[in-house]
Order: sequence, then C-alpha cells, then structure tokens
Amino acid sequence: MRKNVIAGNWKMNKTLSEANQFVEEVAAKAPSNEQVEVIVCAPFPFLASLVEKAKGSSVKIGAQNMHYEDNGAFTGEVSPVMLNDLGVTHVVIGHSERREYFAETSETVNKKTHAAFSHDLTPIVCVGETLEQREANETMNHVESQVRKALEGLSDEQVADTIIAYEPIWAIGTGKTATSDQANEVCTHIRNVIKDVTSNETAEKVIIQYGGSVKPANVDELLAKSDIDGALVGGASLETASFLKLVEAGT
Ligand code: PGA
Repeated sequence: MRKNVIAGNWKMNKTLSEANQFVEEVAAKAPSNEQVEVIVCAPFPFLASLVEKAKGSSVKIGAQNMHYEDNGAFTGEVSPVMLNDLGVTHVVIGHSERREYFAETSETVNKKTHAAFSHDLTPIVCVGETLEQREANETMNHVESQVRKALEGLSDEQVADTIIAYEPIWAIGTGKTATSDQANEVCTHIRNVIKDVTSNETAEKVIIQYGGSVKPANVDELLAKSDIDGALVGGASLETASFLKLVEAGT
C-alpha cells in the first residue's frame, strides 16, 4: 500500500531562525511511522542548516526548485549536485508559480526531473490547470500532457519513484480547495496516464499528492480518497501546529 507523503512548501517565507525553530520542533514531534513521510521544502539559504536540524528524525528536507545542469556559467542558479551534497533528498519541480513567473516549461520540467534522478533526488513534479482551463473542460487534457511530458524518457523504476503533485492553480493560496471528488478524479486520471506510459504495477506505486488550500479542516477527506496519497501544502505548512496536524492526518 502507498504511504501518505505530507510536504510543506514554504515558498519565499521565513527567516533562518524561524526555519530552524520550525524544523527542530517538527523533527521532535513528527511520528516515525511507516505510513507517513514528512518533507519540508525550504528556500535555498536555509537548506544546509535544516538538514542538520532534521538529522536523526524522520523529517526530510527538500528544495523548491533547481537548475538542470550540474555546474557552469549559470549565475544565480543552484544545481542538483549542490542539493545532493547538502543532504537534501527532494526537490519541487514545475510549481505553477515557477511556470507562471519564471518561464518554467514542460521541457525544463522534464530536464529537471531527469537531473534529479541523476543526483539521487526525488522529484515532486507539480501539474495543474487554470480556472479558465477548468471552465473550458480542458483539465484532463492539460494535466495529461503535463504528466506525459514530465515523465518522458524516464525508466519505469524512476517513474515509480516520482512524486506527482496535482495542484489546480485556482485552488492555490485562494482558500478554494477542490472538492475531494474533483481532486480525486484528476488524480485517478493521472494514475491512468502513468499506467499507459509504464504499466499498472508501476502506476500503482506512484505517490500522487493533492495541493491547493489543504488545511487541517479538509485534509482527512482528501487523504481518504483512493488516488490521493498525501498533500503539498503552502499556507498551512508555515505554522508548526497546523503542519503537525496534517502530518498526524497522514498516519
Ligand atoms: P497553498 O499552496 O496550500 O497555500 O494553497 C499550495 C502550493 O502552492 O503548493
């Protein structure tokens, strides 16, 4: 059976001392339970320190982005080699905010997904539709093409280890959660697409998270759904109390 993966995505928030305090507390309180995996995806400047704070606990530290090249003349960028060297284990790829504000495309998402596997990082690949696409009934086609492109050229084993986060853009940071049925319908479609790309057996192993205004009040209903295996959480991951409630819901 698939476990639940609860990942906090702090986005561009917190200071180093706030970040350290958060991870210390969550590391002390998070259950080491086979059923739930806990990841905190933090801004680059905090990662080295947070890896130290999380040592010996079940909490994993992730980045929110990276470049796909190993090194070179890419001023301002951070490479998968650097993240792996720090002890970071996960990386968010293709978040809708990166696609919208930083020119991330399905091609760069695919390159970054390959780069993550080349350096022992687990990619959390984000996909999702805009409100206009949902209203025009384009959700399934759009998400399907994002998933197919992101996974292009990966081995079945790598696909099995990829985490997909379905995040409808209209539900991110808006307080509007997709209903659990709406969310599950798309997550089931994603799993069917992965079956088509690989095999039933591989697709059944893939962790598919839902993201978009997940909070303690709605997490149980979402996690109870057949194809939702966790959550990628922005706003409600900023306070330890609410984040720990989400982790608890995953156990
Ligand atoms: P939110 O963000 O939980 O604040 O809606 C989710 C995300 O962007 O990953």
